[in-house]
This record gives sequence, C-alpha cells and structure tokens, in this order.
Amino acid sequence: MRIQKICQYCGGKIVKSKSRVLYGKGNETIYLCTTCNAYVGCYKGTEKPMGRVANTVLRLKRQETHQIFDTFWKKQGWTRSAAYRWLAQSLQVPEENAHIGMMEMDACEAVARLCRDYKNKEAA
Ligand SMILES: [Zn+2]
Repeated sequence: MRIQKICQYCGGKIVKSKSRVLYGKGNETIYLCTTCNAYVGCYKGTEKPMGRVANTVLRLKRQETHQIFDTFWKKQGWTRSAAYRWLAQSLQVPEENAHIGMMEMDACEAVARLCRDYKNKEAA
C-alpha cells in the first residue's frame, strides 16, 4: 500500500509520528494529519499503515459498527473466526480486509446493514 501523504478530510499534510504525540505515551508508529489530527495506526511491529487516516467521526462509527457486529455474531452463537468469514463473504472482500478497524464510512454502514438484514431474514 502507498503511504498516504495528504489528508482526505482537510487536505492537510500527513506525517509519520508516534502515538505518544496523541496520548502522551506509547511508541507505536502512527500517521497523523498535522492540521486536523486524523490518524491511522500501523500493523504491529511495522510502519505499514492500516488504511487511510480516520477522524473522530469515523473512529466513533467504527466503534459503533464493532458493537453491532459483535452483538450480532454472539447472538448467532458463532465463533469470532466464523463471524469474520461470514463478514468477508458477505462483503465480497478477502478475509484479511474484513476488519472494521480499517473500514471507511460506507463499509461500516454495509456491515450494520448486513447484520440487520440477516436478523430480519431469520425472523421472516
Ligand atoms: Zn486532516
């Protein structure tokens, strides 16, 4: 993946930084927009970003989507790995891309919709 240089929200410059800049601690590499503070973390032990920078709104959306998804698959009695397999198949993406923490707004919406539709199908 190419490293993002320009923030998709504000056009600001993205720099390589450390998580302590945001949290006051931690030495993990992050990519940070110097204008609006949107950021993205990296794969463990690498300097490879896990997608594009995310702002607060997107991060909250991901949290919410995670909650919907986790509640959903637990109710189905699925294992975590079965749940992610289902998600990848439903979204038609490779399993390694089926991570809510990497998703953009529209993909988060799609996940919430999938969970909702699945439940409705079962009820019908
Ligand atoms: Zn920005």
